[in-house]
Amino acid sequence: MYSLTGLFMEFRCVQDCSQCCVEREYYPNTKFGKIGVLILPQEKERIESLAKQNQISVSILPRIGISKENNVDSIEVLAYQMMGIEENGNTCPFLDTESGKRSPHGGFPCKIYDERPLACKTYPLVESNPIILDQKCKFCKEGNTANENLNSEIESLLKIKNQMTTDAPFLWRYATGIGEEKYQSEIKKGWILEETMD
Ligand code: SF4
Ligand code: SF4
Repeated sequence: MYSLTGLFMEFRCVQDCSQCCVEREYYPNTKFGKIGVLILPQEKERIESLAKQNQISVSILPRIGISKENNVDSIEVLAYQMMGIEENGNTCPFLDTESGKRSPHGGFPCKIYDERPLACKTYPLVESNPIILDQKCKFCKEGNTANENLNSEIESLLKIKNQMTTDAPFLWRYATGIGEEKYQSEIKKGWILEETMD
């Protein structure tokens, strides 16, 4: 039987999949708790206002910060994150799991699709040159590789990367304190110094 595994092809969401709007990971490890959807500082107000319009409550925590000095009081937030609505950190607040509507590929629809965060517009692209897709995306898990139909994702990724470039000496990552019960003793909450750049 002919298999497409390993061949380059167009990127298309897997039929009925909503995985990337539901599943959240511990990143970079359990200590930091589950992460949320990356929100750039200039997107935060807009997302909060979209939440209000949709009568949704959202929790937006810091994600990455920089500082000139080694203390948390001087941190400038480079990126925020929108947390999931489940206790274990999963499921984006804007995912419509209740109305019975479906997205064009059959997954649960996004209530703010046209105005979704840049990070959502980027996924599953993690690198643009060469193109690398997130192996956790269901399309990749099914053994597919794509190098076409990714133009808008590439554009969004470049915008994010451009903004995340910094020469500040201290880089901080915010531990969310959120995750499954079994990891509660390991999960931290608050800023943790990640890197000191000389
Ligand atoms: S990007 Fe990947 S994980 Fe997300 S809905 Fe499409 S196929 Fe599923
Ligand atoms: S904002 Fe929309 S596209 Fe982004 S994770 Fe939430 S439901 Fe999915």
